[in-house]
Amino acid sequence: MDLLDTLTAKGLRGEVPTREEALAVLATTDDELLDVVAAAGKVRRRWFGRRVKLNYLVNLKSGLCPEDCSYCSQRLGSKAEILKYTWLKPDQAADAARAGVAGGAKRVCLVASGRGPTDRDIDRVTDTMAAIKDADPEVEICVCLGLLSDNQAERLKAAGADAYNHNLNTSENTYGAITKTHTYADRVDTVQKAHGAGLSACSGLIAGMGESDEDLVDVVFALRELGSDSVPVNFLIPFEGTPLAKEWNLTPQRCLRILAMVRFVNPDTEVRIAGGREVHLRTMQPLGLHIANSIFLGDYLTSEGQAGQADLDMIKDAGFEVEGAGEATLPRHRADVAEAAQAGGGCGTAASACGSGGGCGPCGGHSHAPAPVQETATESPEDDDELRSDLVKVRRRGAGTELAPNA
Ligand code: SF4
Repeated sequence: MDLLDTLTAKGLRGEVPTREEALAVLATTDDELLDVVAAAGKVRRRWFGRRVKLNYLVNLKSGLCPEDCSYCSQRLGSKAEILKYTWLKPDQAADAARAGVAGGAKRVCLVASGRGPTDRDIDRVTDTMAAIKDADPEVEICVCLGLLSDNQAERLKAAGADAYNHNLNTSENTYGAITKTHTYADRVDTVQKAHGAGLSACSGLIAGMGESDEDLVDVVFALRELGSDSVPVNFLIPFEGTPLAKEWNLTPQRCLRILAMVRFVNPDTEVRIAGGREVHLRTMQPLGLHIANSIFLGDYLTSEGQAGQADLDMIKDAGFEVEGAGEATLPRHRADVAEAAQAGGGCGTAASACGSGGGCGPCGGHSHAPAPVQETATESPEDDDELRSDLVKVRRRGAGTELAPNA
């Protein structure tokens, strides 16, 4: 297939495809799916080998957010029966982080609900990072506290943070339909503040919110342009009690196409299968590892993932290996850009390395005479809310509870 040959060749050279090529990946048929995965897999192995980076989420403060992000179980007015608690103490957070690191995670992601941190919140997170790094100086820490004010990124960097996560989530055109309390531009500004302070930028998307293929391509190109070093690809977890509770738009095949498109546009960037992996990829998760080079270990912020040991077993069974603490995640040329940005305290726009400028099988029928094999429509949206709702399990263990973390 010419498209896949072209995308593979570009990816192996670290080049970004055209927007039309990215759209064409999303339009491929199920008959072509394994070829798409194989092509994206070649690009993945070129830059990341068979390594899988494990990241571990610690929800420092859960629920009760004043913002109204429609996809979020912690939003203003959410009726989702999630855990709700205020700031964990540093030693509580460090205990949870330690469990993740012991399970194989090299990065701990410290997340707190809210519009953005106060300076007092930055102090709390500073103390928490110190407690975590006291126990394990090698661990990477990524902080996710919402919209940043001036100088907060610099304070986090000085306190030992390695990265800052703030997702763009969806395209600029559709952002206003999912959130009213802040804007797409606000999110871009925070990613730039983090990058400008020398923090590695972690910024990704959420698929499955009713967006078009064009929206997905727009946000993925925007992430490339922003110079995101890691791109978490979330698949919407439609929580009961949120406005998007009935948005079951994804199939495992669709998820794989989306991952492949993200990989082709970000050939040498960490691509992470994030929230919704178990809910939407289900038994197809191992195929996702051929495209993405990073996952979360264990549970998510407000929902439970599969057992941490099942994550490790899946990686091993699929022929991959957990990336060690001493191994660089990014290819050398990307790491150089990141280090230069850190040394200069400036954005350094990984743009200089990025090139661009910011679900059914063949039907066949039942005739005895073999009919020509028809390539089927690419999408078969999930339409049975009740059937799929049992896949969403609210987190009841780990941070904020008396029960051991899943790691
Ligand atoms: S700001 Fe964060 S925690 Fe608050 S509703 Fe939006 S995504 Fe959820």
